[in-house]
Amino acid sequence: MENKIEIKDIKLSFGTKEVLKGVTMQIPKNSVVALIGPSGCGKSTLLRSINRMHDLNPDVKITGDILLDGESILQSKKDPTEIRRKVGMVFQRPNPFPKSIYNNIAYGLKINELDKKVDVKQAVQSALEDCYLWDELGDNLKRSALEMSGGQQQRLCIARAIAINPEVILMDEPCSALDPISTAKIEELILRLKKDYTIIIVTHNMQQAIRTADYTGFMYLGELVEYGTTQQIFENPKEELTKRYVEGNF
Ligand code: ADP
Ligand code: MG
Repeated sequence: MENKIEIKDIKLSFGTKEVLKGVTMQIPKNSVVALIGPSGCGKSTLLRSINRMHDLNPDVKITGDILLDGESILQSKKDPTEIRRKVGMVFQRPNPFPKSIYNNIAYGLKINELDKKVDVKQAVQSALEDCYLWDELGDNLKRSALEMSGGQQQRLCIARAIAINPEVILMDEPCSALDPISTAKIEELILRLKKDYTIIIVTHNMQQAIRTADYTGFMYLGELVEYGTTQQIFENPKEELTKRYVEGNF
């Protein structure tokens, strides 16, 4: 199986605090990988290092490497915005721009300098269709994105991310601010997007990992304790710590 991302012995500290203690994992192409583990174990930090969001933090020291299609992301001299074009990110709190629904996607294309390269109207429609928003919103695209429901806002943020045509989508607890129905829609969307993208999702919701992820990694205190198929991790964990965590006995 082809690996889209290879994380190699990533160690990361904020000042003197070591938060990732040598994480190594392979993310197969067109898979959904869930990262689970107690609060503070380093899931978001790991996710953020994949699109170099720590670049601007002078306190961060990072060693090891992350490869995207075999090419180093961390050592790359490339502008991190170039990496972020390939590696999109969706956050816990939906964060649409305070603009119209249409302009959320159109502006996303513009700041990534794609507005001259693609048919913007078509790209907006296609991204909204992919995220089940096109029919749902009808011709209401001039409305402010901030007037949408939380679940719609989050799907708009996913639409904005995929409109850039990335290869990888990182999602940091994308449903934890949403109700169960909106959550179910996002999960359906994740399963649909997997044929075109490689997705890494941080989640507190173990049922969500079971429903969406092909592989699951369990992190604890900055280490990847165990990583395997989702079925193996939940049904037949090898490590005692994983077993306790997935049984809710932590
Ligand atoms: P998780 O997402 O698993 O809850 P995080 O990756 O957010 O965990 O955090 C891991 C550890 O790193 C925590 O102890 C947190 O306090 C610390 N941390 C996260 N971001 C920063 C930062 N910008 N500066 C200093 N410490 C941080
Ligand atoms: Mg987090």
